[in-house]
Amino acid sequence: MALSGARKDSEESDDDFSSAGSWVERFLASESGAFLCEVSEDYILDKFNLVGLPKEVPRFEKAYETVACASECSESLFPRYEKEAKLLYGLVHARYILTAEGLERMKEKYRRSEFGVCPRVLCSRQRVLPCGQSNKPGKHRVSLYCPLCKDIYSAPTSSLDGAYFGKTFPSLFFMTHPDAGLPERPERFVPTVFGFELATDAEKAAGGIQ
Ligand SMILES: [Zn+2]
Repeated sequence: MALSGARKDSEESDDDFSSAGSWVERFLASESGAFLCEVSEDYILDKFNLVGLPKEVPRFEKAYETVACASECSESLFPRYEKEAKLLYGLVHARYILTAEGLERMKEKYRRSEFGVCPRVLCSRQRVLPCGQSNKPGKHRVSLYCPLCKDIYSAPTSSLDGAYFGKTFPSLFFMTHPDAGLPERPERFVPTVFGFELATDAEKAAGGIQ
């Protein structure tokens, strides 16, 4: 299946690849690569970590050649297989950030608030993490998970595919780093009328209020 047919709402903007450096360095330095951490070279070169990906990534060999090559490799590959290379790097990234090393790299980005903050007022600018609603590429764009209100939001500054982060990442992150600096419980907005709290539907159903 052609890559363009699989992407739906997760199209990514083209970036300027005219500057020097490896393809990965250029991708991560671009606006669309901002949420991604650098996957270690050893991890990318270990074919065991790529099991199953040839079925997911069109023209896998060319994509791999583009992603794995160092700065001295042919730059002619860059624009030609850019979409395939992004897809491959993203899917490898989703696996990598579940490793101890990957979790640590994402923790540094989280600490620097590189993923942004929760838009919910009572979360008081709680830092968020990127996550996917699906592990399959081409389904949803990346979402932002707030560990305080435990909800997800659209990412206003990123059009990356959510599968580049996957569904497991936020939960594993906070299991691994329970010291991520969260308040004990989120503050809730309490609606009132002339100072009196409104009864919930559940309370009415229980017969507390006629
Ligand atoms: Zn929140």
